[in-house]
Amino acid sequence: MADILLYLEVTQGPDGAALKKPAAEVATAGRALADATGGRVVALVPGDVADAASQLGTYGVDAVLTAGGGDRYLLDAHTAAVEAAIEKVSPRAVLLAATVIGKELGAFVAGRREMALLGDVVSVAMDGDAVTAVKPKFAGKALARLRAEGPAVVSVRPNAIPPVESAREAAAEALDVAAGEARVKVREVVPAKEQKLELTEADVIVSGGRGMGGPENWNLILDLAGALKAANGASRAVVDAGWRPHSEQVGQTGKTVSPKLYVACGISGAIQHLAGMSSSKVIVAINKDPEAPIFKVADYGIVGDVHEVLPLLTEAAKGFV
Ligand SMILES: Cc1cc2nc3c(=O)[nH]c(=O)nc-3n(C[C@H](O)[C@H](O)[C@H](O)COP(=O)(O)OP(=O)(O)OC[C@H]3O[C@@H](n4cnc5c(N)ncnc54)[C@H](O)[C@@H]3O)c2cc1C
Repeated sequence: MADILLYLEVTQGPDGAALKKPAAEVATAGRALADATGGRVVALVPGDVADAASQLGTYGVDAVLTAGGGDRYLLDAHTAAVEAAIEKVSPRAVLLAATVIGKELGAFVAGRREMALLGDVVSVAMDGDAVTAVKPKFAGKALARLRAEGPAVVSVRPNAIPPVESAREAAAEALDVAAGEARVKVREVVPAKEQKLELTEADVIVSGGRGMGGPENWNLILDLAGALKAANGASRAVVDAGWRPHSEQVGQTGKTVSPKLYVACGISGAIQHLAGMSSSKVIVAINKDPEAPIFKVADYGIVGDVHEVLPLLTEAAKGFV
């Protein structure tokens, strides 16, 4: 009858705090575990999200714990909130999204509580009393099967587990801890100018590589991304050259993404790039070299010059998206 605890990220939108997109995916994963243990799914929402309980009840959450003032992520404050929730719930597993925040917080909590860490997994299940999970390794060429006999922290790769509705009446309860109290004080947050969609949460990503020729040609990437309502990414070669910010880098030393559609433009397909995007559902590659390694992982390949192909794709996308 062990319970499952979720930590769900909150974002500040124009209408106040809101749950981030992976919340439904993490809740779906948690529901499946709780169905196996016979326990409850308890979600910690570290912020003031007005209708968190009804939103999360839709995805099988039984109870919601709120910790006020935590709309903005701060490691020590959110760790305190998660630890308070762990004390209250004694969960078999703590699930969170494998985002930049989730990876940091998950590792921190696992270390402090001496729990196993199953990081950046694409599926999770119970096998008897053990928590098991699958994690892609070596750019998705191998799958590691992980198993934790004791309590575990599990970070779930965004876009890996499709949300499934499983309606519950989730009641909300305030935790006796303020998720906004931290040693670090944030004085100002300056939003990035161009990136409107979070790369790791986007359903569609258009990425550019050195084959784009220079930063002056990035409008081709941004135009297609705009037409497809996509986030835009980049290879490391581009970031190292200073054409794009590191926050857009996809790959081993950048972000790991799993969108429904990944469009790679002028990217050769080095193993370190593939490490970050090979679990995308559909990969489209545009490259003028028919032997480019990216075509080995692509579902659709266009052999051509990005300067000619991208405007055509953008025009076509405008017609149906
Ligand atoms: C430890 C380590 C970590 C790394 N981490 C990362 C990482 O996180 N992410 C990452 O991306 N890389 C990473 N790299 C770098 C990686 O090895 C490659 O060097 C990098 O991915 C290459 O970027 P690229 O594909 O943009 O450039 P290139 O390899 O130079 O490829 C450019 C491609 O564009 C094509 N092209 C050229 N002109 C055109 C045109 N006009 N139209 C169409 N196609 C054209 C070419 O045929 C070529 O295939 C890492 C490397 C190391 C050693």
